[in-house]
Amino acid sequence: IDPASTPEELAFEGALRPTTLTDFVGQPKVRGQLEVLLQAARMQERAPDHILLAGPPGLGKTTLAMIIGHETGRPIRFSSGPAIQHAGDLAAVLSALVPGEVLFVDEIHRMARSAEEMLYLAMEDFRIDIMVGKGAGAASIPLELAPFTLVGATTRSGMLPAPLRDRFGFTAHLEFYETADLERVLARSSRLMDLDLEAAALAELASRSRGTPRIANRLLRRVRDWLLVHAGSSDIDGVRAALELYDVDEAGLDRIDRAVLHAIAHRFGGGPVGLSTLAAAVGEEADTIESVVEPFLVREGLIGRTPRGRIATASGMRHARALAPDDTLD
Ligand code: ADP
Repeated sequence: IDPASTPEELAFEGALRPTTLTDFVGQPKVRGQLEVLLQAARMQERAPDHILLAGPPGLGKTTLAMIIGHETGRPIRFSSGPAIQHAGDLAAVLSALVPGEVLFVDEIHRMARSAEEMLYLAMEDFRIDIMVGKGAGAASIPLELAPFTLVGATTRSGMLPAPLRDRFGFTAHLEFYETADLERVLARSSRLMDLDLEAAALAELASRSRGTPRIANRLLRRVRDWLLVHAGSSDIDGVRAALELYDVDEAGLDRIDRAVLHAIAHRFGGGPVGLSTLAAAVGEEADTIESVVEPFLVREGLIGRTPRGRIATASGMRHARALAPDDTLD
């Protein structure tokens, strides 16, 4: 299950997003760190420091950015790395900011290099230099910016150049959620969706949601559909049947997770295998494997990373043996 959102899902996600830190479930460490940071800024009536949110997709980075805006009473503007392909794109965004605004840049590691350099100066001194003209007649015109708080989100903090990483006052590392926390996310979402599921059904769903709130909420919708179509079924049967229908196994692994595990275990004899070879074998982008699939399989103790490549652990080999041969995605 792809943790990225579809357009239809965005509207739904908007409705389920908590708007305060208190309603933000789990991530106790990050929540504690942000509480102090935001409160100090409020007490001194200044914009909070620039904040980097790092972690796999669907763990709440956008949600936290919106909470930061909400908790500090500041407007928030959205942009993303892929939308900033030239320094000029960034200049346009920065010069339109109003004082104190929160600028959220999703996938900040995908911003163009030329824009990154402009961002260094903007983050540090709230000014940029705009180049006009070309060749001998080129000149740089300084432009003062309104003070702002940059909130960057990245699934690949290792890909950010050090000078950019260093200019964030604080980096929050989001972790996969504990099952108990996902149960709370699901309980809240089902309330908002007017669904009344048994606790055991919510617990089962939580334990099979890849430690990811976005996936938990998405599976909850599939369970709701299943129960609607199969009126009279018990909630727990609904969860089991819907997850089977949508290819989520008992350990919460989806098709790509299983394909990767299967390839390491069977095609590459348990590893080690390099990332690009693995990506080619399962027909997925290396980036998706590295930022989405691998972190979860590592956290579940199914695969490991070594200097020579990825390996399947003993428990990964056991899980792979139980996989059907069609779990290869080819
Ligand atoms: P990211 O930006 O990291 O990809 P989002 O912030 O878009 O993730 O979160 C995806 C979905 O998961 C949203 O619908 C949000 O409501 C839900 N969600 C994420 N984190 C939490 C949380 N801690 N508590 C409740 N819901 C959450």
